[in-house]
Amino acid sequence: MGKETFRLKKAGWLVLCLAGLCLFSVLLLQAGKIRAEAETMTTEVATTESKEQTLDASTTQQAISPSITFSKKKKSLKAGKSFRFQVKTVGITDKVTFKVSDTKLAKINSSGKLTALRTGKVKVIAIAGEYSASVSVTIKPKKIVALDPGHSAKMTGGTEPIGPGSSVKKAKDATGTRGVSSGQMEYELTMKLARKMKPLLEDKGYQVVLTRSNNKKAISCVERAKVANKAGADIFIRIHADGINNASVSGASALYPSSRNPYVGKLSSKSKKLSSCVLNAMCKKTGAKNRGLVARDDLSGSNWAKMPVTLIEVGFMTNPEEDKKLAQNSYQDKLAKGMVQGIEAYFGY
Ligand SMILES: [Zn+2]
Repeated sequence: MGKETFRLKKAGWLVLCLAGLCLFSVLLLQAGKIRAEAETMTTEVATTESKEQTLDASTTQQAISPSITFSKKKKSLKAGKSFRFQVKTVGITDKVTFKVSDTKLAKINSSGKLTALRTGKVKVIAIAGEYSASVSVTIKPKKIVALDPGHSAKMTGGTEPIGPGSSVKKAKDATGTRGVSSGQMEYELTMKLARKMKPLLEDKGYQVVLTRSNNKKAISCVERAKVANKAGADIFIRIHADGINNASVSGASALYPSSRNPYVGKLSSKSKKLSSCVLNAMCKKTGAKNRGLVARDDLSGSNWAKMPVTLIEVGFMTNPEEDKKLAQNSYQDKLAKGMVQGIEAYFGY
């Protein structure tokens, strides 16, 4: 072997060793990478597992406490109005049904739509399986009506100003008229009519205030108006019957303050409309002769009112035929229903 040959052999070994080293390094690196990847995968698996654990926990919690709550509700509603109550359920599969605690006050349908009928307090109850939720609702009146049954068996006596601030005075009250055939007193008839009108109006969602509740109470005309004012009434209906020294005169009329009235002139047009609505509806219902509207500014009970006012003369008790009708329960029902229809017409319901 020559010197050259030996050198070549030496170089060959060196190259082989270097190549071997390189391969070893690459293998080492690859191994490291694989380990790192494997670790990442392990971490991912762990993360997925912990998510699943969280889900399991929440599912378990839902199953433990199912609930039903109102998501849309109202605490008060005006009679005649509707509102749809809604509930949210958690963990309950049963269908939700609705009911109310008093069906005279309100009705509710299967989708939770409540319609307020009469004033008062009612509970709305939502039921799903064995679970339920309830909410209390106050039903407010659509309007307040003051009814004044004219006269009384007991008299107050004395005088009072004809209007606020007036120096002109008038008797506080009068005995009223009397049925020529029936012997019925005007104050008895007016009280019967007011008592018939009250529940009819309440059924339609009105709040009703009576200026007197029996025939033993003495009350002046101004005091009657003050009852209506204090109640914050929207309208004031004064119920009377007519009397005249002529047996042939019959029919119904309505008295309203004129626009020149120094106390309630501003209420004249509304009072005239109210008078017209109530008188026309009443005459239509009963078939009574309609004598029309009369402007009157000397009625202290009307002059002290702070709301539209009418005084309805339902018929003549001095006419034997009409008096007999006015004493009949069925005719009184018609008078009451007719006046209530007139009130509805005035408000536009
Ligand atoms: Zn009278």
